[in-house]
Amino acid sequence: MSSIPTNKDAVPARVIVITSGKGGVGKTTTTANLGMSIARLGYKVTLIDADIGLRNLDLLLGLENRVLYTAMDVLQGECRLDQALIKDKRQKNLSLFSISKNQQKYNVTRKNMENFIQSISLLGYHFILIDCPAGIDVGFINAISPAEESLIITTPEVTAIRDADRVAGLLEANGIYNVKLLVNRVRPDMIQNNDMMSVRDVQEIVGIPLLGAIPEDNNVIISTNRGEPLVLKKKLTLSGIAFENAARRLIGKQDYFVDLDTPYTDKKGILKKVQNFFLGS
Ligand code: ADP
Ligand code: MG
Repeated sequence: MSSIPTNKDAVPARVIVITSGKGGVGKTTTTANLGMSIARLGYKVTLIDADIGLRNLDLLLGLENRVLYTAMDVLQGECRLDQALIKDKRQKNLSLFSISKNQQKYNVTRKNMENFIQSISLLGYHFILIDCPAGIDVGFINAISPAEESLIITTPEVTAIRDADRVAGLLEANGIYNVKLLVNRVRPDMIQNNDMMSVRDVQEIVGIPLLGAIPEDNNVIISTNRGEPLVLKKKLTLSGIAFENAARRLIGKQDYFVDLDTPYTDKKGILKKVQNFFLGS
């Protein structure tokens, strides 16, 4: 792929923090699947697990046994940065960087985070995705401080939408203006029965541009349990396609949305019916 930048030192990585406000809406799932998709498109990606108390990005990626060193160990001089960057064996463009182990004491500062990001960028990474902790306290502020872009995840539920809206305000107050929305766990059947807000309604309430929408899909849970991101499946499910689609939009390679009303058929069948589904709903 000739359009992929190769200049290691001069091209700074795009640093994108994945936030939500409310916990459990799909930040970690999104970080893993978007990261894997972007890496498969040929870019070097580091995923940072900044969710200290509820660290689980390593599990979703199936890398839990390989996290020997974390940012805390780098800071304490126990290892070099590259030793704490765990390379995915299935996709060599993808690395995982954990801030701390669950039982480790956490005292990473904003400055530390910024230095880590700069050093990772200098190693030639094109994208750094930061999986943000839930809530809006010190862990959140540390996670967002090195980012220039953000992706807000919400589900079509009022509690999650309210928190997403709050986080959008906080991001702006912290100088992050490039913000996009991803609506997760969408159920077209419920939308049709007026039991769930449409993606368009959600987007209008939060008032930021839409990156994509991901359907509710049991395969997400299965893939979490297997430590294998959905987008690695040979036969992609609709949620896998929707994540791939969002990844392409994030790198500026695609401009349409997947139709979540399409039955779960093969990828070709779904893509044939691609249209801006939420405009019609
Ligand atoms: P967060 O990082 O925001 O706390 P997670 O990514 O850990 O959220 O997701 C929370 C739970 O929701 C997990 O059990 C995950 O498998 C499930 N989940 C996330 N997205 C979907 C989806 N699109 N369909 C079904 N389950 C999902
Ligand atoms: Mg999480």
